[in-house]
Amino acid sequence: MFSVRNSAKIGLKLWNNRSIASLSALSETHQMLQKTCRDFADNELIPIAAKIDREHLYPAEQIQKMGELGLMAVAVNEKYGGTGLDYVAYAIAMEEISRGCASAGVIMSVNNSLYLGPIERYGSEAQKEQFVAGFTDGKRVGCFALSEPGNGSDAGAASTVATLKGDRWVLNGNKCWITNAYEAESAVVFATTDKSMKHKGISAFIVPRNAPGFSLGKKEDKLGIRGSSTAQLIFEDCEIPKENLLGEPGMGFKIAMQTLDAGRIGIASQALGIAQASLECAVDYANKRIAFGKPISKLQSIQSKIADMSLGLESARLLTWRAAWLKDNKLPFTKEAAQAKLAASESATFCAHQCIQVLGGMGYVSDMPAERHYRDARITEIYEGTSEIQRLVIAGQVIKEFVSIPLTNTIATRVCACSRGLYYSRQSPSRAKLELEFGVVGQHRQLSVKLTRSGVFVVKLEQVSWSTRFIFIVWCRVKFYFFFGKKVPVLFEVSRQQQHRLPERAEHRS
Ligand SMILES: Cc1cc2nc3c(=O)[nH]c(=O)nc-3n(C[C@H](O)[C@H](O)[C@H](O)COP(=O)(O)OP(=O)(O)OC[C@H]3O[C@@H](n4cnc5c(N)ncnc54)[C@H](O)[C@@H]3O)c2cc1C
Repeated sequence: MFSVRNSAKIGLKLWNNRSIASLSALSETHQMLQKTCRDFADNELIPIAAKIDREHLYPAEQIQKMGELGLMAVAVNEKYGGTGLDYVAYAIAMEEISRGCASAGVIMSVNNSLYLGPIERYGSEAQKEQFVAGFTDGKRVGCFALSEPGNGSDAGAASTVATLKGDRWVLNGNKCWITNAYEAESAVVFATTDKSMKHKGISAFIVPRNAPGFSLGKKEDKLGIRGSSTAQLIFEDCEIPKENLLGEPGMGFKIAMQTLDAGRIGIASQALGIAQASLECAVDYANKRIAFGKPISKLQSIQSKIADMSLGLESARLLTWRAAWLKDNKLPFTKEAAQAKLAASESATFCAHQCIQVLGGMGYVSDMPAERHYRDARITEIYEGTSEIQRLVIAGQVIKEFVSIPLTNTIATRVCACSRGLYYSRQSPSRAKLELEFGVVGQHRQLSVKLTRSGVFVVKLEQVSWSTRFIFIVWCRVKFYFFFGKKVPVLFEVSRQQQHRLPERAEHRS
């Protein structure tokens, strides 16, 4: 079989009809990967997608073939049996597979980014040998267990507990909604090891399927992605070796959040695949369906739907690939992954909805795939963080970025504001202390300094005249330069207590 691993080495020139910058901007490896996955989806997934959805069947044979192609561990190091490609490759492959079958897409996504991802990143060499190698070929899959009956969006409120007893960790609690639960041979599980520390007391563990005290709840009967299993994991005095702790105690929440950042690129890509399948279905039908003596694709209102579908889809694809590219280049990508997932999942729902509309009555019955796309699309707005949570993540990051304005701009803005005499107080300036979050470093008149979590110094000036303020800003700048030996980000703020806004500087002088 034409494998992704081999295709990367052969170097074929490939035909491509997808419109993202004509894909020509992609490397040859990425183009080959896309073609391989597209062919696989056309030949192996599209023919079985309706059946596995209808009968709730796990597509074991297809997942194994995907493993042979290298799709079950796309970005995992070759040393552990992975394909050794990057996250852009993973995004491309996920989209193509999900275009064929969204259930196969989520099975692939969970194994790649939620199970193998954190173990490869945080695991010891022994853990990688045992729990990564052997989960890359599609014969065995893993799962990721964060959600609980009492915690979903509020992931830090884990009530599953893990207690160290001698050389074993003992887990008690329930995890719910776990994808791949019935097939997984191993799970990354999050449990509280120190309740007093709240989310900082959560740790991550690797729990093999055969661990004593580990059982499964009933399989959920879902709206969509019905070829993947979703069930509860039940831990009743479940014992695992001490060495199965992933990372350090208390690192669990950080591991979960970083894993979900990467996972969102996978879900965004799954959504793109569903959106693309919906668009293709709608266009194909519109070209064939005759109404009022001509194909409905000639009607403006149908064309308008197709235009909006392609717009949403292609914008979301750009966002998704940007997030993957940032991750590959070891740049921050939390906001971008959330944006990609939000845009792609909402686009998938929109495209699937419009696809049904274009198909009319045929969109509403299971003879055509439109209604399945509609059901499959919906979950992408829920798992790995709902759309509401993505918006919180995006807004949080944007606000943080705003605070981290580089020093020079900040000074310029603040000096400008001061010189216009925006704030004024007749109160005589009080003494304030210059302190860092980690301890007082000095006593100074009329200002206090704090270091924020994002590494920005916030200098608060008491109510003083604009000229004094200007002197302080210059003084602070010089002081910081000598203190740290380099430019550091500083934000100057004027204390708002007892301030009076004056319209003109002339009034200030009087
Ligand atoms: C099919 C399926 C597969 C899944 N697979 C996995 C898996 O493999 N592993 C895993 O750990 N989990 C999995 N999940 C769980 C999934 O991640 C959660 O369902 C999801 O995070 C939402 O949590 P919840 O269901 O508890 O909803 P809740 O957190 O109860 O949210 C309910 C509503 O309130 C909103 N809301 C909550 N908090 C806020 C807030 N602060 N601001 C604004 N709105 C808010 C939500 O957006 C939502 O609309 C899966 C879920 C499903 C349905």
